[in-house]
Amino acid sequence: MLGKMMHKQLTISSLLEHAGRYHGGTTVTSVETSGEVVHTTWGEVERNARKLAAALARLGFETGDRAGTIAWNNRRHLEIYFGVAGGGYVCHTINPRLFPEQLIYIINHADDKVLFIDATFVDAAAKLRSHLPNLEHVILMGSRDEAAAEKIDGLLFYDELIAAENDDATWPEIDENLPSSLCYTSGTTGNPKGVQYTHRTTVLHSLGGNQPDGMGLAARDTVMMVVPMFHANAWGSPYIAAAVGCKVVLPGPHLDGVSLAKLIDSEKVTVSLGVPTIWMGLLQGLEETGSKAESLERTIVGGSALPTVMIPTFRDKYGVELIHAWGMTETSPLGTLNQLLQKHETLNDAEKGALREGQGRAPYGVELRIVDDENNRLAEDGETQGNLQIQGHWIIDTYFKAEDSALTEDGWFDTGDVATIDPDGYMIIRDRSKDIIKSGGEWISTVELEDIAMSHPSVAMAAAIAAKHRKWDERPVVIAVKSEGADLTEQELLESYKDKIASWQVPDKVVFVPELPLGATGKVLKNKLREEFGDVLLTEVD
Ligand code: AMP
Repeated sequence: MLGKMMHKQLTISSLLEHAGRYHGGTTVTSVETSGEVVHTTWGEVERNARKLAAALARLGFETGDRAGTIAWNNRRHLEIYFGVAGGGYVCHTINPRLFPEQLIYIINHADDKVLFIDATFVDAAAKLRSHLPNLEHVILMGSRDEAAAEKIDGLLFYDELIAAENDDATWPEIDENLPSSLCYTSGTTGNPKGVQYTHRTTVLHSLGGNQPDGMGLAARDTVMMVVPMFHANAWGSPYIAAAVGCKVVLPGPHLDGVSLAKLIDSEKVTVSLGVPTIWMGLLQGLEETGSKAESLERTIVGGSALPTVMIPTFRDKYGVELIHAWGMTETSPLGTLNQLLQKHETLNDAEKGALREGQGRAPYGVELRIVDDENNRLAEDGETQGNLQIQGHWIIDTYFKAEDSALTEDGWFDTGDVATIDPDGYMIIRDRSKDIIKSGGEWISTVELEDIAMSHPSVAMAAAIAAKHRKWDERPVVIAVKSEGADLTEQELLESYKDKIASWQVPDKVVFVPELPLGATGKVLKNKLREEFGDVLLTEVD
């Protein structure tokens, strides 16, 4: 060999070590379950995470063991992310909004040895406890609490565990291919499926996903993670924030618009991440508080399609750029982010806004393609719709404890989304393959129908579904929630579709409802809507 470079393992603890060493004094703001706002630092997070790794070893943890969390976004959760993975164990974040049976299934399937819980979830955990035979300890994320201890036998306290360890505890040496965290997909049918990430996939996702054309976080930013830490690892933002050493704001349990508007102003947040419903709430919160969100420069929006009206509203009223992103639990989750190219610089705001409506381009590290049902590659002309497939350094191969790979024979992961890709690589999600409306052999995008409905000022939320139809097999029906106090008729809403889409795509019917059924990550449960309203056109006389 004529020369050699150093080989260092790509570990999650190395991200935090960097934050501790070079950004140790940078603030991490945490809204606790009690509502108290606590300011800590990366230095302290790093120290506590190391001590937590040592505490878990003392509790008998062995490499690869799973630790579950049922918790909000707060400083202890951040320490658990790094402490569990850094110790060589697996941090399994659990969505508290799941039904008890789903929680029991997931915790038992993951074989969690301990469960970290926030105070909010003491009663829920007490009820689950007898259904979790392999769980050894429940750990309350806080100091000693006698009332909680009475409810759960042998309850341990996070702060006591940390206090019992030495400040000079060290990180163990870890192979980058070891598992580090585990998330279950929400799964609208069947049992949830686990996706287990490794140190290597997580570090590569942090580096690849944070390029300037990606999340683009820098040390000068203050990032507020509104996306829950139980939703695909908060899109990787805790790891990315450690890698760049930026200030972090963890908003705790209260994610209403007013609470967020106040936090943005008091902590001078520059970047935030969350699902579209959060930003709709923030718009109302800004109105109510009169805040101008002056510090906020951009927000990263994903998880479901961004209602396009939000782009000009945020831009023109608050000077905030919305960056649309797409991903899945199976893709760590960053798959695409929407940043413009040099050739777009001369476009006006409206033209740029139109480009920003799509889900964006793949960063280095992932590759996309669209195929037909026989897996033949389709044209990337921005028009042809096909099944979206993905490959890359941080994409799933096999679900947790599954026997078979989830990939196609030629090594791609089929996302279940239907998309177009244009010659510059910009991808637009047209639908989930199981939601798309097949009307007489033609496809109608529910995403587009919903977007038009939601641009109507009197509509707060809308979902389009395929309703059964005698002649066309399926026809679109829109289920809508009116804005507070709005007076809107079915006919008026249907009128608003004219000139925006072809006449055969205009929905056959609008049903107004008081609210839409939401799943655990805030997405509309379209299968429920199809169950309830899928036959509405059959009962009507033609
Ligand atoms: P989950 O793994 O629960 O986060 O769900 C992933 C799915 O959410 C994707 O397959 C898409 O169907 C949907 N999704 C995520 N981001 C977007 C987006 N920006 N626009 C439209 N759909 C999205």
